[in-house]
Parts: sequence; structure tokens; C-alpha cells
Amino acid sequence: MWTLVQTPPLPSPPCGVQNPYSSYRRRRISIAFGHSTGNSKSIKSIPRCNYNDSIQSFCKKGQLKEALQLLSQEPNPTQHTYELLILSCSEKHSFYDALTVHRKLIDDGFEQDSFLATKLINMFSNFDSIDHARQVFDKIYNRTIFIWNAFFRALTLAGHGVEVLDLYRHMNAIGIIPSDRFTYTYVLKACVVASIPKHKEIHAHIFRHGYHTHIHIMTTLIDVYARFGSVQNATCVFSQMPQKNMVSWSAMIACYAKNGKPLEAFDVFRDMMTHVLLPNSVTMVSVVQACAALGALEQGKLLHGYIIRNGLDSILPVLSALVTMYARCGALELGRRVFDQMGKRDVVAWNSMISSYGIHGFGAKAIETFREMIRHGVSPSPISFVSVLGACSHAGLVEEGKQLFDSMWKEHKIYPSVEHYACMVDLLGRANQLEEAAIIIQDMRIEPGPKVWGSLLGSCRIHCNVELAERASRRLFELEPTNAGNYVLLADIYAEAKMWDEVKQVRKLLEAKGLRKVSGCSMIEVKRKIYSLQSVDEINIQIEQIHALLLKLSMEMKQNGMYVPDTRIVLYDLEEEEKERILLGHSEKLAVAFGLINSSKGDPIRISKNLRLCEDCHSFTKLISKYTNREILVRDINRFHHFTNGVCSCGDYW
Ligand code: ZN
Ligand code: ZN
Repeated sequence: MWTLVQTPPLPSPPCGVQNPYSSYRRRRISIAFGHSTGNSKSIKSIPRCNYNDSIQSFCKKGQLKEALQLLSQEPNPTQHTYELLILSCSEKHSFYDALTVHRKLIDDGFEQDSFLATKLINMFSNFDSIDHARQVFDKIYNRTIFIWNAFFRALTLAGHGVEVLDLYRHMNAIGIIPSDRFTYTYVLKACVVASIPKHKEIHAHIFRHGYHTHIHIMTTLIDVYARFGSVQNATCVFSQMPQKNMVSWSAMIACYAKNGKPLEAFDVFRDMMTHVLLPNSVTMVSVVQACAALGALEQGKLLHGYIIRNGLDSILPVLSALVTMYARCGALELGRRVFDQMGKRDVVAWNSMISSYGIHGFGAKAIETFREMIRHGVSPSPISFVSVLGACSHAGLVEEGKQLFDSMWKEHKIYPSVEHYACMVDLLGRANQLEEAAIIIQDMRIEPGPKVWGSLLGSCRIHCNVELAERASRRLFELEPTNAGNYVLLADIYAEAKMWDEVKQVRKLLEAKGLRKVSGCSMIEVKRKIYSLQSVDEINIQIEQIHALLLKLSMEMKQNGMYVPDTRIVLYDLEEEEKERILLGHSEKLAVAFGLINSSKGDPIRISKNLRLCEDCHSFTKLISKYTNREILVRDINRFHHFTNGVCSCGDYW
């Protein structure tokens, strides 16, 4: 029998490079006798005419169906024909046609064509079909760096970070050294996707192979260090970059903003502006987020003005960040105004509004907004549920929260994650339904991580439940052995129960591990400048004046019977007087006094704090708002407290 036997295709050029072979048919055909292979076909099908030009022309005009009809009649399609067909399937989002093209391509002997394999992997990745991408990768012998990169990209996008790291290890083992920037970029991103901190090792490889001055790789590295909380390393990489572009400046700003260093984020932003680089929308989102973290309303308004002047006020992520910023700076109504003026709203915008109501304690409003979103045809995301359940928790809406939690899977096919369980435990725990919260944890189908146990411990702190607190902290000490906050919470609970021996034991444990309690820090904006006050502050030049004012106010309020210091929360077994002195040194009280001294009468005082507001500071600030006739807004780690005339908007529930 006469058969056609195909020789392997010629090596292909890198993707993006003009293909020198595509203009003529690459498959050379030889005639052999009696050897039938899988890729063979009958001699009868030798073409009488060449449809390649017509197929390519149909592809370019977007007529995929017509192109495919001709493909079935063309026995010898060229590489360029397949390249255009693959592109066309991607553009038309036609997965079924993509499979047809892939099958025909194999039949025509292009399976080992590395140029087309790269295109195929990218196409299947765009169709979210990692299995088909893997099939292409597995089948090819002559793997170029472009194929590796395409597959790394596909795996990273599909969330298969571990597989990327395994393959990268294999790649190193067989002696393949990345010869372009993309490999390192994808492998670094895979570390984040897999939550595996291998980035330092990869940083070393980058250095060794001379890519440490490459702007794109270094920017990705800043981003990855930021994601793993290594701000110092990110700063180091940034400072050593010989050249920086807008993306690298943005990455550094985002690194500070997301790692609790909003002041530094602002400094880098100012520095960037002196380099005459105009920020883009990505930078603005980070800067607005930093502003939100600081609670700096006046700075936020300036940024909003800048955004409008530079035409960035139609970009959804920027507007959503503004909604959140205004809410987190205590100006909920300004945030709502931005939200109302948005022409189009995506789920992120709705989530911003829902969580804004949540942190201000308007639980019913948050639920109403959540329902409004669904009426507008926007499907809730997992974050929508975190926002709305959080809002229920701050407002004590237990029944509503339970119903929403139930609806997650039943109505929206969203499977509850650890975050959602943590919200439920928080909701029940705060409402003093601690036993029910413990049952929820027991019945969880996924491993309750530190977030869930942390929520339970936090609730035990509010209701002083020693037994459950011990259970939760045992798990937390195993899961997060270096988180000082957990030890401090347990010690707080023991102190409130006057179990001083246990307090001492926990403190010893803390010291033995070399851990230190996170010190309280409050930020306040006065006349467009941001000040940070630490508990036991010795840097502030007005500290003497602040202490004197606090002492005077507390004496006066004690004398007229308004204020009784809540010394239960002081962790040490000390004299009452000493405990009172410690309480007066809390950073939020220093910030209130600083605000009273430096702002004009009638101006609200806005403070943001890095920890939960303690009971004593809460009642003290309530009284101050009445005694000095000032509106005081304090945002703690959980929510907003709006103090006016001796009352707080949280209704003492936080
Ligand atoms: Zn306090
Ligand atoms: Zn409050």
C-alpha cells in the first residue's frame, strides 16, 4: 500500500516573531511503501487545489465557520493557517471549534510543532481548560522556553501554583536556564498563588543569572515580597532598582498600603510626583487605599480632586476605592454620593458600599444594599457575603445573618469558605451565643483556620468565657505560634477573671517565645497633616501638654461622677493609681487630647486605631464628646465609633 509519511516539522521561531516558514507548506512529504503510521493518509487525498489562502482570509475576516468548512477539504494546511485558526477560535470564544482545530492539527502532523503548541496552550488557558493545555505540553518533546512559559502562565492563571513550582524545580534539574523574563515572573506569581514562600530562592536564581536589573522582574519581586509581608525586602529591591517605571512605583506604594504602612505609602507617592511621573489608575487605587487606612479625610478629598482633574473618575476600581475611603474616613454620606454617581457598578463597587454600611454599624442598610445589588442583576461574590455577614455582626443581626449564610449555597451556589465561617462565629460570639458558635466550628466541613478560632477567642474576650477561650487559644497557639495577639487576648481574659497566676504564665510564654505585644497606635489628621501617636509616646513635642490636658479632664470628670476608670483591662496586678496612669497613656486618648489642642472648635476629631478600642477608652471618649461638646469619630480595627453628646453610634456593641 502507498502511504504518505510525514517528517517532523521544522523548528519554530519564538512567539511574537515573524515566522519565516509560514509562507510555504512546512510538511515535507515522502512516499514510502508498506509503512502505515497513525499520521498517514491515503494518496487519493493529495490536493488538487490549495485552500490555505482562502482559510486565512476567512479567519482574518472573523468568518470561522467558513474557514473550518474549507479546512476539512484542505489536506495540507500550513502552520500559518493553523496559527490564524487558533487565534480565530480564541477571538470567537468557541471551545468546540478549538477542539476540532486541535484534532485536525494532530492529524496533519503538527503535534510536535513548538510554535503552534505555544499558541494552543495559550488558547486552552484562555478557555480555562488546563487539562487540554497540559495535554499539549505533555505530548511535545522539543520543548522551547516559550512552551514552558506558556504552560507556567496557564497553570498560574488556573491557580495551580504548586505544579508550577514542581515543574520549575524539574526544569532546573534537567539544566534548562530561563532565557527570558517571563519564566521568573510566572514562577514568582506561582509562589503567591500556592502560598509557598519560595520567592527568596527564586530571587537568588534571578541574581545568579543576571536578571536583577530587569525592571519587570524586579517589580514582580516587590509585589511578591509585599504579598508575603516582607516590606523590608521589597523596600530593598525597590531602592536598588537602576530604573523605575510607573508600575514599580505603584507596586511599592501598594506594598506599604497593604502592609499597614500608609504613611510610608504616602511618602513614596509624594516622591513619585517629584519624579514627574503622572500616576495612573492602579497607583491611585493604592494611594486612596493608604488614605483610607490613615483615615485622613482632607488628604482623601485632595486625592479625589486630583482624580477628577486627571480624568480617572470614570474608572470603576478608582471609584470603588473612593467609596471605601470616604466610609473609612468617617464620611459615609460622601462615599454614598460617589456610589450614586457611578454610571455602571460592578460587584466590587456594591461590595464597597455594603462593607461601608457595615463598619458604620448600619446592618439593615447593608442588607438592603445587598438585596438591591441582586435586583440590579449583579451576582454576589464570596466577598459580598463577607461584607454583608460582617455588617450583620457589627449590628447584632443574628437571624438575618443566619438566613444569608444559608442562602449562600442554596440560592447562589457559593460554598462558604473559612472567611464566611469566621464571620458566623463572630456574629454568634458577639451576640453571646458562644456555645452555638463552638458547634458551628465543630460541624465545619473544612479545616477551621486561625481566622475562625481567632473570631471565637475575640468573642470570649467580650463575654469573658475562660473555658472556651482556653480551647480556642490551644488551637491558635498550634496554628500561629508567633502571633502575639492571641497570647495577649488570652491574658486579657484571665486578667478580667482576676486569674493573675494564669496571666503571669501567659506573659512568661510570650516572653519565652521572644514575642512582643503590638503597641497601640492612633492616627489623627489635623489641618491636612497626619500625626501618629503611640501609647507611651515620647516623640510628640506636645506630649507634656497632652498629658496635662488628659489628667485635668479625667480629674474633672471623676470629681463630678461622670468617669470611673475601667482598670479591669490592665494586664498587671498593680495598684489602682498605677493602673489609671497606664489607662491614660492609651494612644487613642492621646490622639483625642492632641485633636482638642490643635483643631478648631466645632471641627470633628477623626482618629483611626490599629487595635480594638478598649472599654475604658470607649467610655472615656463618650464622656469627652459630651464634656467638651465635640464630635469624635474613631475607627478601630473592627468598625466605626461615632461619639456625639456622650453616646456612641455602636450602642456599646463592638
Ligand atoms: Zn484604651
Ligand atoms: Zn462605640
